[in-house]
Amino acid sequence: MIRLCVASVMLAGPIGATAATIATGDLAPIQSGLDYHSFANIDQFRVTRLELDLRVDSTNKVVYGAVGLAIKRLDPSATELVLDTRDLDITDVTEKAQDVLGATAKTETTWVSRPFHLERKDPILGQALVIDLPPSKRATEFIRVEYQTSPNASGLQWLTAKQAGGHKPFMYTESEAIGARSWIPLQDTPGVRVTYKATIHTDNDVRAVMSAQNDPKAKRNGEYTFVMPEAVPSYLIALAVGDLEFKETGPRTGVYAQKSMLKQAAAEFADTESMIQAAEKLFGPYRWDRYDILVMPASFPEGGMENPRLSFITPTVIAGDKSLVSVIAHELAHSWSGNLVSNATWRDLWLNEGFTDYLESRIMKAVYGERREMMELALGLQSLRKNLAELKPEDQVLAIDLRNRNPDEVFTEVPYEKGRLFLIYLDAKFGHDRFDEFLRSYFEHFSFKSITTEEFLKYLQDNLLDRFPGTVSRDAVKAWVYGPGIPPDAVLPTTDAFAIVDDARGAWLDGKTPAKNIDTHEWVAQQWLQFLNHMPATLTTSQMVELDQAFGFTHSANAEIEHSWLLLVIRNHYQPGNVRLETYLETVGRGKLILPLYKEMMKTPAGAVQAKRVFALARPVYHPTVQAAVDAIVTPAGDSENSDE
Ligand SMILES: [Zn+2]
Repeated sequence: MIRLCVASVMLAGPIGATAATIATGDLAPIQSGLDYHSFANIDQFRVTRLELDLRVDSTNKVVYGAVGLAIKRLDPSATELVLDTRDLDITDVTEKAQDVLGATAKTETTWVSRPFHLERKDPILGQALVIDLPPSKRATEFIRVEYQTSPNASGLQWLTAKQAGGHKPFMYTESEAIGARSWIPLQDTPGVRVTYKATIHTDNDVRAVMSAQNDPKAKRNGEYTFVMPEAVPSYLIALAVGDLEFKETGPRTGVYAQKSMLKQAAAEFADTESMIQAAEKLFGPYRWDRYDILVMPASFPEGGMENPRLSFITPTVIAGDKSLVSVIAHELAHSWSGNLVSNATWRDLWLNEGFTDYLESRIMKAVYGERREMMELALGLQSLRKNLAELKPEDQVLAIDLRNRNPDEVFTEVPYEKGRLFLIYLDAKFGHDRFDEFLRSYFEHFSFKSITTEEFLKYLQDNLLDRFPGTVSRDAVKAWVYGPGIPPDAVLPTTDAFAIVDDARGAWLDGKTPAKNIDTHEWVAQQWLQFLNHMPATLTTSQMVELDQAFGFTHSANAEIEHSWLLLVIRNHYQPGNVRLETYLETVGRGKLILPLYKEMMKTPAGAVQAKRVFALARPVYHPTVQAAVDAIVTPAGDSENSDE
């Protein structure tokens, strides 16, 4: 989705029996800062540094090798180190007493085997890897784990050359929320930050890139080394391997893509440096050296993923006219909100996403003007309202209770759009100057830290509410963070850019203006979306033909506009749009764009047959999370799924 950066796909339905547990409220009060989605005993041991030495085997769809972990011992009497894993085959665990890491250096005799075992598998969390470590007064422990991933690893996607739309196979990781444990055994919680080094072995004719220092000039020789000097949470560790080429777009920006996309992508993302400068002016220096973009295959399930120094971006934002680049503003904004100051647990995701949506709109305003910003805000509000109508009240709060649930269920519009509205509200109440100063000090104060909702609220109280008393009450803040829905005092976006469009649609529907006579030559993508998204439930075939002939929707180059049109194609059984519908579903894998189409198709018996047939063809191209989500739509069992993201 336009602003979505992470797993934009809600998993289908409640997981196991857990929804009932939540609903009955049987659980103890939630403990702020406790990560309910990790087994790691981080109060006894803290991993501070990783060293990866991995081979990416695209023939067998596995990654294997070793990880070295430097671990700060917080409890001298602790006897077990617990790491998170999921579907990993652990072959050896060794310990080293000296202060030298070197995952590759196992030949040295100082490594000593340590007993270990895997606990029983939890369907959501995976398996705890328990390593025996005798009590010690040493400040730091060095552990090396040899392992291999499963071909079904939840954090990896393997694409054939054909599926990747190129000449070589493509592999990439998606570690957010808890995918990292499926390809690295580690403390998989955003509360722990690590620096890392990596040596990645691949086939000779592909290139590996990571969320780290990348060398665009590195020779393609099958061995790539990376250093990530800034400490990041595990969900930001990322790797991609494919037939990648590089094109510079500025002194510290560039694009990695398969050759067929490289030129278009570099042109589309040419404003990235301007965006960085706008963001730096507002929120303080960019702290990550370079900012590059990796253009993913079309099956990438999300809009983008804010992997530090190297955002992973869907090609569906390449429209030829920069109309969808708010996704870039969003992923870039994460360099402050999310990557610099991170959510401590998945309950606190709104600190990442609400802040980032807000920063995104500030960047869009600075680079493209207020009119564009307001249209995007208005479309965002429409999505939020639609989503709120489908969500239970307890899932409409910013600080959501995710216990016994898959943390991916947090990725609704709420942390994004409601979070953004909360910051817009504070901005309006305190004024740009005071609020911007607050934000700059917030990013500085918590830089390279992971924080909870409650830590933020304390900081907000001390540095804004109490400094300018009588402006915003504590209760008002609580209503935003812990209450459902949109508080009545919200400051909502307004734009006159949509009134023109609504009027034109109305005049056409009333038969007053033929479609070809509507003056659309100044319309931008956001206005076209507004035009299509508010069409009545049914149109006649001749109306569909008229629209298509006047505006060529069936062949739109803009994936978002095409999406809105295809919904009408399905709803109105418009045959000339059918081929495009099926091609779209067989190539695009972005959950936000395809799940609503499958849902719409399932509303009629003929559509259901078509949906199942197309899905059977398209399935191998989709990411596992999207496969699961489409499965739940086309073969519903029990509770149906409630998000169209
Ligand atoms: Zn995001």
